[in-house]
Amino acid sequence: MSYDSFTCPVCNGAKQTMAFVCGRPEVSGLRALTCQTCKGVGSIPEWEMRAYNEQAAKKKQRRAVREALDLSMMEMAKRMGMSRQDYNDYEHGRRD
Ligand SMILES: [Zn+2]
Repeated sequence: MSYDSFTCPVCNGAKQTMAFVCGRPEVSGLRALTCQTCKGVGSIPEWEMRAYNEQAAKKKQRRAVREALDLSMMEMAKRMGMSRQDYNDYEHGRRD
């Protein structure tokens, strides 16, 4: 790990995340999957860490606004003239 990489904030360096997988009996259940954030590396570069932090900050802020208004995601989406999916992406900081 070089000086400018950070431990992955999602898997905490474990390189895997646990996820519930649905499908055929031999593959369904709780599985360890390769972490999508660090792509199984366990650490992410500085720019990606910064992007992650920015996204996390947006998410926190946007959620706080909605909760202050005491609205559900559906109600908030309607108020902002967005689809529920678009609003969900917006609140999670995946779009602006
Ligand atoms: Zn990771």
